[in-house]
Amino acid sequence: MKKCLFYLSVIALALFVSVAPVSAKTYVVGTSAGFPPFEYIQEGKIVGFDVDLMKAIAESQGFEVKFQDISFDSLIPGLNAGTIDIVAAGMTITEERAKVVDFTEPYYSANQALLVKEGSGNTLTVLFGNHNIAVQTGTTGDLWVEENLEKTGILTGKVTRFDTFVLAIQDLINGNVDGVVLDTPVAKRYAAEKPVVMVAEIITGEQYGLAVAKGNKELLEKLNKGLEEVKTSGKMDELLKKYF
Ligand code: GLN
Repeated sequence: MKKCLFYLSVIALALFVSVAPVSAKTYVVGTSAGFPPFEYIQEGKIVGFDVDLMKAIAESQGFEVKFQDISFDSLIPGLNAGTIDIVAAGMTITEERAKVVDFTEPYYSANQALLVKEGSGNTLTVLFGNHNIAVQTGTTGDLWVEENLEKTGILTGKVTRFDTFVLAIQDLINGNVDGVVLDTPVAKRYAAEKPVVMVAEIITGEQYGLAVAKGNKELLEKLNKGLEEVKTSGKMDELLKKYF
């Protein structure tokens, strides 16, 4: 009798296990939500092209995603520390970064641009001489300004490095800096929404990729497969239309 009860409970347990839903794995996606239209805050929520792209990839590959908004220069350290699993932040694939993280295939192309305050009459010349320029810390715009303007002595004014582009743009509007260097698609979006104008494009030929911790082959493969599927299914075109 006892044995019988034991078997019954084993069967009951097996049944319970088999009908309990298998919950999909949830990956934490790190982003920096001051980069419209890729990622920005709307009504308290993180939204944007990268957010929708990640959700579409997750859906196609059968996992869940949860977003975490942190400063851009904390994203790669976050991947390495394991506090986030994926970076989706309009991050440019660079040789330096590829030494410490793994990138997916590219999903978007961009250059750098210069924004000035509307009505200031400022032009490309603010990149020369005694002018003040703002960037977002750790971005390719930051690096470009450092390499091409600061180190060469072309720019003799101050370079202010902000945690977010939101703060850099605000400083520009407040008249504290003469220009902000940032990615072209984002510069265009800020110019459409704020009293700032894009006066120059700097051809850097960048490509954005999603990033995972170095050696996380399994996740990288899922992301690349998902990207491919999003492209071939027409979802990518739909998202591009929605955001650009
Ligand atoms: N594409 C730039 C970079 O990778 C800026 C990205 C961003 O600010 N979110 O550095």
